[in-house]
Amino acid sequence: MTKEEKKKLLYRPEHGFDRLTAAEEAEMNAYCEDYKAFLDASKTERECVFTAVKLAEQRGFVEYKRGMKLQPGDKVYFNNRGKAIMLAVIGTLPLSAGANIGAAHTDAPRLDLKPNPLYEDAEMAYLKTHHYGGIRKYQWVTVPLELHGKVTRADGSEVYIKIGDDPADPQLVINDLLPHLGREQGKKPLNEAIPSESLNILIGSRPERDDDGSDRVKLAVMKLLNEKYGIVEEDFISAELEAVPAANARDIGLDRTLIGAYGHDDRVCAYAELAALFATEHPEKTAVCIFADKEEIGSEGVSGMQSQAFDTFMADLCASQGVELRECFENSFCLSADVTAAYDPNFAEVYERRNSAFVNYGIGLCKYTGSGGKGGASDASAEVVGKVRKLFNDNGVIWQMAELGKTDAGGGGTVAKYMANRNIDTLDAGVPVLSMHAPFETVSKLDCYMTFRGMKAVFASK
Ligand code: MN
Ligand code: MN
Repeated sequence: MTKEEKKKLLYRPEHGFDRLTAAEEAEMNAYCEDYKAFLDASKTERECVFTAVKLAEQRGFVEYKRGMKLQPGDKVYFNNRGKAIMLAVIGTLPLSAGANIGAAHTDAPRLDLKPNPLYEDAEMAYLKTHHYGGIRKYQWVTVPLELHGKVTRADGSEVYIKIGDDPADPQLVINDLLPHLGREQGKKPLNEAIPSESLNILIGSRPERDDDGSDRVKLAVMKLLNEKYGIVEEDFISAELEAVPAANARDIGLDRTLIGAYGHDDRVCAYAELAALFATEHPEKTAVCIFADKEEIGSEGVSGMQSQAFDTFMADLCASQGVELRECFENSFCLSADVTAAYDPNFAEVYERRNSAFVNYGIGLCKYTGSGGKGGASDASAEVVGKVRKLFNDNGVIWQMAELGKTDAGGGGTVAKYMANRNIDTLDAGVPVLSMHAPFETVSKLDCYMTFRGMKAVFASK
């Protein structure tokens, strides 16, 4: 048998760097610089929306208002309460032909402040946290933290707080036990060694000098917050303050092929969608890019993918063309753009090597997610996977097939099922990630770039 015949007959994915041209590599590196800048400016879901609006408006997108007349090629966005956003480029075909949708999420695991967070103990001031999403608690101690978020004051006025982002700012931290006294802690299972109620952020240690009461350090911290942000302790109750890792995105590896950062899950796919939408002019089908919130806690709430906000936005677009939403949905396609696990040789025992995504092998297609017997998965059909496979092959997108890990090892979900439940053909695809959900996650530039290329192909598809 010839080499060619053998290659045709057997499936053997090729390493991305054996396929990438020099021109593609240059474009990949430029794309990843923009992605890193997006990450550094967007450390919370609110900041992702803020950045997206800013970038979109620079490219001629306007805020969508109900009843607006729309022409093919028009670019609009709908900001859902500052926490999620949908952007669209209107197609030349009516919406009855369906839309091409990219759905990613921009919330990431983090430590939220509790409603009554500030207290003092042993003359140090702390903030109590309630973790958001699936974190491995032991990873969040002794890493520098920033505090980002919004506070609504008693009179209804608002202030946005960002502490630690500016290089001149102080940062915050959660302390851990010294090994010398960690004998008992060291015997505990990983998920019990750091209890949730010990994830308390150190925020100050200087007592208020001329006060004779107790809690002098807490008082002094509150005074600083009041001077800078005009808030009082009760204002924490109507606040969303998120402690996030303080590190900015950095190249990883001597060859600079990887990016380390907080929040690749799922900003790496969200940014790919956004950049792809910006590169889409006059598509046949209307192209829609979604930054969803709350995916990490089940896509719940008004800003999550289960919210009617998406249906309302699409119904409004349809109404402007006299199209029924249900007709649009049944002809639409959605790439549920979310990350998957990258095979990690240090933890080989949890992966099934023949069905794992590998770093530098391109965007990972997941026919199904879920856990156990595909529980909670939308499980895309052969036809839908076939369509995307052909689309990617026709457009030179380097892709691979991906399963999270061994069937018995665990599992996870995405927004895919909520899109599929709307009668929209949906497939999961995204960037393989090392150390997913850790304060500092790692992805490959090639996979980031190929996700952008894949998304661009979806938006241009018929
Ligand atoms: Mn995700
Ligand atoms: Mn996640």
